[in-house]
Order: sequence, then C-alpha cells, then structure tokens
Amino acid sequence: NHLKKYFPVTKGLLNRTVGHVKAVDDISITLQPGETFGLVGESGSGKSTVGRTILRLTDKTAGEIKFKGIDIHSLSPAALRNIRPQMQLIFQDPYSSLNPRVRIGDAIGEALLDHGLCSKSEVRDRVLEALEACGLSSYHIDRFPHEFSGGQRQRIGIARALVLNPELIIADEPVSALDVSIQAQIINLFSKLQQSRGLTYLFISHDLSVVEHLCSRIGVMYLGSMMETASRDELFKNPLHPYTKALLSAVPIPIPKLKRERIVLKGDIPSPVNPPSGCKFHTRCPYAQEVCRSEIPVFRDAGNNHFVACHLV
Ligand code: SF4
Ligand code: MG
Repeated sequence: NHLKKYFPVTKGLLNRTVGHVKAVDDISITLQPGETFGLVGESGSGKSTVGRTILRLTDKTAGEIKFKGIDIHSLSPAALRNIRPQMQLIFQDPYSSLNPRVRIGDAIGEALLDHGLCSKSEVRDRVLEALEACGLSSYHIDRFPHEFSGGQRQRIGIARALVLNPELIIADEPVSALDVSIQAQIINLFSKLQQSRGLTYLFISHDLSVVEHLCSRIGVMYLGSMMETASRDELFKNPLHPYTKALLSAVPIPIPKLKRERIVLKGDIPSPVNPPSGCKFHTRCPYAQEVCRSEIPVFRDAGNNHFVACHLV
C-alpha cells in the first residue's frame, strides 16, 4: 500500500544527499492467493525494487507491506526469519547466485537446514522431490552448476525456492536470459507448479508476451509509478494508457484481423532522479497535452476493475 522506495544520491567526501532516485513512488498492488500478478515495464521502471522491497531485502522508504495480514516491517528479525521461507525470490540468472564449487543438491539443501525445516537425514529426499517437481532427477543432484544448460539452471533456481515450500514466489525476469523455445518450457513449469501447489506469483518482466500466458492480472510501471492495472484479458483487449499501448504494439499479434495501433516509443526512459513533471510519461507520449506537463494524472477506476493514470482517459 502506497509503497515508496527512494535511494539517496550523495556527493562529496561527506556524502551529502543531493537528491533521490525515486525508484518506487507510491505503488499499491494486491495479490490474491493462487493468482499471478504480472509487473511489466522497461528496465529502470522500478519493478525489481518493488519485488525486493516486498521481500524486505531492501527497506522501504514509506508505505505498508502486508503478507497474509501481517505488516512485515513490524516483525522482529527472528519473526521475519520464520516467515522468510514462505516468500521466495527467483532471479533472472540463477547461475550468478550458485557457488561453482558447491554441488547443486547441497546448494538446494542448504536453505532447508539453515531454516531448520528438516533433519539432516531427510534433506536428500526433500531436495530430490524439489528437483523432480522441476523436471530434473537424481542424476543431477551431485553435479556442479557448470554442468547445466541455461534452462536447467533456471529449473535449479526454481527448485531451490520450491524446496522451502513457499506460498509466494517473486520471479524477477526469470526467463529473460533464455532462448525463446526454453522460455516456453520454463513458463509451463511455473504454471504447472502453481496448479499443483497453489503458489502465488509476482512475475516481473519487461516483456508483455511473456506475462500474457501466465498472469491473471497485470500492472504496467513507468519510472516508479503504476500507469495501468487490469485483468490480463482486459489489458490485452482494451489497453487504455498510451504507454501500455506502446508496449503492446511491440507484441506480435497471432490474429492479423485484430488491428492494433502501432506506437513506437522514442528515446529512453528518463532519469528517475529528476523525473518529468506532471505525467512522468509526457516526454515520450505521442498524445501529450499542456495539462500533462503540469498535473499528475490521478490513478483511477475506469470500470471493470481496470485502473489507469492518464488525463485523456
Ligand atoms: Fe500521455 Fe498525457 Fe496520458 Fe501522460 S497523461 S499518458 S502524457 S496523454
Ligand atoms: Mg530489474
């Protein structure tokens, strides 16, 4: 609720704060148990920071984060440690977080023992069960990270989260580093695991075509702000925000009759240190008016559980 995460920008020997990067600037989202919420936007929009702040891997600047009704910032370190296994993060590149000298079975089992979730004698069985759920087998358990392909490494990353029996998984660009054919396999795996285990996902991606197959709701972020949220079907059928339309116009359409406006965005996402006034998107929006430069559009209900922040809608 109203989550903000500002990083100070400092200068000089005394680290004088000269400004802030408003990485996340007043974002509210709700995840229902068992659903997948897709968080989409270009790199630099603040998606990863939302994920990391929710998991309290980085402290929020303002706002409230509740997990099953519990304000996680009110928890003591011990209490936080206890609920940690229930909320897991999966990275874009699991390889970078795997120690090259540790066999993957040990890497996956480590967290189980750290959290005291099972006895030493049970670890191997639990690890094997997680590997098998992710399409790997006992053949893989004693191998080293370099012996695996990119897709297999992501399966290992998922198994490592899964072994702790989480309820919420935040997956940050989990398929972005993979070939398109492998992407589909990993997305199918996410979907299969959700059905068999009732997992809830916050799925972060810069690519709308990736979230399309997995997500029930989608939120589109730009420069730390939420521009639009809607159900997947509603967002794809009836995008309202010019930024969403631009992102969608880059997604190939399987049905040629379904004509879509083509909006090509010019330039890069502006610096979050000094974001544009008014609507943050006005410097790149083909429909920008005078009011867009001076007034921040209110994020409001456009009906059908569809929310959007744009003066023209
Ligand atoms: Fe474009 Fe104005 Fe809407 Fe922002 S508020 S998206 S600049 S039309
Ligand atoms: Mg990121």
